Amino acid sequence: MSQTSADSFKKLTAHCKEYGFIYQSSEIYDGLSAVYDYGPYGVLLKNNIKEYWWKSMVQMHENIVGLDAAIFMHPSTWKASGHVDAFNDPLVDNKDSKRRYRADQLIEGVMEKLEEKADKEVEKAKKRFGETFDEKLYRETNPRVSEYLQKAADINARMNEALRNGDMAALTALINELEIADPDTGSRNWTDVRMFNLMFNTQLGNIAGEEGKLYLRPETAQGIFVNFLNVQKTTRQKLPFGIAQIGKAFRNEIVARQFIFRMREFEQMEMQFFIKPGTQQEWYDYWKQFRLKWHLALGTSPDKLRFHDHENLAHYADAAVDIQFEFPFGFRELEGIHSRTDFDLTEHQKLSGKKLQYFDPETNENYVPYVVETSIGCDRMFLAMMGNALVEEAVGDNTDGEGNSRDVLKLHPALSPLKFAVMPLKRNEPGLVEKAKGIFNLLKFHFPGQYDDTGSIGKLYRRQDAIGTPFCITVDFESLENDTVTIRERDSMAQQRVSISALEGMIRERVDMARLFK
Ligand code: ATP
Repeated sequence: MSQTSADSFKKLTAHCKEYGFIYQSSEIYDGLSAVYDYGPYGVLLKNNIKEYWWKSMVQMHENIVGLDAAIFMHPSTWKASGHVDAFNDPLVDNKDSKRRYRADQLIEGVMEKLEEKADKEVEKAKKRFGETFDEKLYRETNPRVSEYLQKAADINARMNEALRNGDMAALTALINELEIADPDTGSRNWTDVRMFNLMFNTQLGNIAGEEGKLYLRPETAQGIFVNFLNVQKTTRQKLPFGIAQIGKAFRNEIVARQFIFRMREFEQMEMQFFIKPGTQQEWYDYWKQFRLKWHLALGTSPDKLRFHDHENLAHYADAAVDIQFEFPFGFRELEGIHSRTDFDLTEHQKLSGKKLQYFDPETNENYVPYVVETSIGCDRMFLAMMGNALVEEAVGDNTDGEGNSRDVLKLHPALSPLKFAVMPLKRNEPGLVEKAKGIFNLLKFHFPGQYDDTGSIGKLYRRQDAIGTPFCITVDFESLENDTVTIRERDSMAQQRVSISALEGMIRERVDMARLFK
């Protein structure tokens, strides 16, 4: 991460805490690593993200229904799904620093450095050649650039082969050969790489030993698969149809140092779309495009989002792509779209001995459907939206005694935690206070908002800007005479005098989620 990105990430995490979005879990006991609590504004934003996802997936699709399965599932579920045997990450310990890393991430770090070096050469050449510079040609023909990129590609190929074959010795050899140093201490004294299962487990109270071993679900998807027939029969859905679920998932991540990007307890929004075998390519393409549109509708710049095809397909998939978002530490997975074939249903069928088949009334056949999944981390989406929205901007002539810069959270108004704040021009004027509280009591039936008289108007505006409130409503003496107020819009800071009766419509116009679906 460059210094500027590191600074902006630090600022973002500090902002999340200072303004009541996210706190470290159990902070008074020095915290629990990679576990976080959502504060008063955080929970509102998170709920809005979930609502946007749920409405777009369930409410807007007649053939998608919801589910809320339990976190605990029969332990055989995880045997069938492959999580007991294959949900592993390659782990390596540094013997000197006693720090633990993911071997693949250490190796990826080397590749990223090589790519950065190639980019630097390109940047230098761009400056040297000016207007006439042909970047594509230069990348293909410059010997130094090709050398860096070729080296990165070779390392990538070796790493992927080792991961595919579960060859830990090859990963150990690669780490030593590339002379990778502990990023924190510089030591090169490594243990051998070994596999580490990411599932948390616990024990049922009334059954001792292995028999009573339970797992905290590492993904919500399996709750959907085991309920496939229940849902299909009770809702009389015909293929293709989907089941959507939002819920907690737990992973004992080895390295979890990127705030809410990688947590040990997190929330997923997953949808499994059951289809006729043979139509998976068509539906995979459909969901790729649909999900990208969902992100773009929030006003996120297309430059910040990209598709990234998986090179190493998971054991259950015949195609997989990530929607990556440009976080301060680079492009990383935000969402996954996976063509999961009939793997999960078939495995559950084998292990449970129960048929999980669909009777197709058109062909009079029974078969196990194929599945295309969309899976997005709610917390990662939260981080993406906060990072994208937080800007520090100069306010020039618009100053209001609060300095000439402001931190403003330019969230899409449909996601903003609060939609409005009402403030009296003077807090010690009973008439103004009463009027302002009256407006709050009117609007609270329609939108989450706040009455605030704890500071000067300038200060209160800044505070609402920092939590992303799209509208501030100020009540002054004129309001008492003619029932009008000033309404200030967050991004433009433009103020307008409007009648109180127009407020609800004006706010709705901007914050209504329905606009995102049209
Ligand atoms: P990664 O490669 O980053 O570990 P993954 O490929 O294991 O992610 P999936 O199993 O596809 O992730 O999970 C679907 C989504 O769940 C991811 O796209 C991500 O948004 C979210 N997610 C996965 N692991 C975590 C985590 N530890 N913390 C927060 N969100 C997560």
